[in-house]
Amino acid sequence: MRLSLAVAGICMAATEVQAFQIFHERLSRGRTITRSASVEKEAASSTPDLPDYGKTSVEVDKIRLTRAKPWRREDLFGNTLIDQTMDELQNDAEFQDTEQRLKSVGAAQMSKEERLKRRRALDDLGIPSFEDFLQTQLQSTDKVTLTRKKAPTVLQINIGLYCNQACAHCHVESSPLRTEEQMANDVVLQCLELLKASPSIQTLDITGGAPELNQSFRYLVTMARDLRPDLEIIDRCNLTVLQEPGQDDLVDFLKENNVRIVASLPCYSAENVNKQRGNGVFERSIAALLALNDAGYGRPDSGSPPLDLVYNPLGAFLPPEQVKLEAKYKEELDENFGILFNSLFTMTNMPIKRFADFLYRRGELKDYMDLLQRNFNKDTMKSLMCFDTVSIGYDGKIFDCDFNQQLGYGVGVDEIHQGGLSVFDVDSFESLQDQAIRTDNHCFGCTAGMGSS
Ligand code: SF4
Ligand code: SF4
Repeated sequence: MRLSLAVAGICMAATEVQAFQIFHERLSRGRTITRSASVEKEAASSTPDLPDYGKTSVEVDKIRLTRAKPWRREDLFGNTLIDQTMDELQNDAEFQDTEQRLKSVGAAQMSKEERLKRRRALDDLGIPSFEDFLQTQLQSTDKVTLTRKKAPTVLQINIGLYCNQACAHCHVESSPLRTEEQMANDVVLQCLELLKASPSIQTLDITGGAPELNQSFRYLVTMARDLRPDLEIIDRCNLTVLQEPGQDDLVDFLKENNVRIVASLPCYSAENVNKQRGNGVFERSIAALLALNDAGYGRPDSGSPPLDLVYNPLGAFLPPEQVKLEAKYKEELDENFGILFNSLFTMTNMPIKRFADFLYRRGELKDYMDLLQRNFNKDTMKSLMCFDTVSIGYDGKIFDCDFNQQLGYGVGVDEIHQGGLSVFDVDSFESLQDQAIRTDNHCFGCTAGMGSS
């Protein structure tokens, strides 16, 4: 009952989700982390009152880590998580309901319904459209339209939605059931052609689903590395994929091709991770991180590419300040598991897909939209993901960002899920320079607090 458990997690406020807010509060009071004067000054000058994190009370002190457990679990490698994920999905009434609606009304209609729900929540609060809101906040006399001022530097490719997990807040609604939505060979080849023709691209960011489970993943990585030895290549790794059958050489492959790993770990507590990502995911993630450390990932001076972690909140609140949370993660993971990593990125949960459903079912969508808009931070406007990124769907369609992709807001369309540019319509990604960016009320998620990109 993945989604149901997540809901229960918020209801049981004192035990799970709450854990984070105490942590936030402690961080805010600066008790746990020593910060440099320059960092303090910078934070104070840029975002004096942000964010307020929302109403959830949190008790991180209640997280109790189990040091005695043998976290090095070689027996997990070669042992699939998919059967367990499928069993959990079979018993998850909310997931089944969403699947049925997807089959009966289709993705386009579901995206429209989602958009209307967000709009109604904002209307109830008297909040205008994102564009009008920006105009007021930025005190602009003209309507504010986001535009790409330069050619994209990041090529993000969603190679397919198939995943061995089915996380409660997955904004792409991945699961082992998404077997059809996989990037075909001709689309992969065209992406490589365009990479060759787009010298502005400095980073290839491969995402999914579990991208490594796509049959073209290794081809894409090796060809991109051959084409552009200087290219930064990122694998958005869910960690548990390292243990899937046939992936025993994955770490070596990634290291040989100088691939940076960006991995999700929304907490250092087993209870919280398993609640959001599925039973057993925490111990598998820890075992995977230890294996990556053994291979040199995350170890300073090892010469290996970086290993970064991603935190996203377990409920309807904003992430704490990245620099403070990173220090806490480093302390906890090293002390309790002997795990090292390079950087932590915090991400705001976007009010779309499974997380939007979760909020709506709990009657919390309005509160969450309120939280996002009242934490508007104009500093986030300097570095929105859509200014630098071009996002490609598994079918080759071009989007301004991963979130627009999941909502069907393609580049060059007015109607969601209708038409739009594909990789076969452009000669270079650099031609996207000066294009207007498609925004809507989900964009409040990128401009709240410390931002989401
Ligand atoms: S591992 Fe990532 S892609 Fe897979 S279900 Fe979880 S959030 Fe979605
Ligand atoms: S969701 Fe964020 S990254 Fe995407 S278009 Fe809106 S502001 Fe830009």
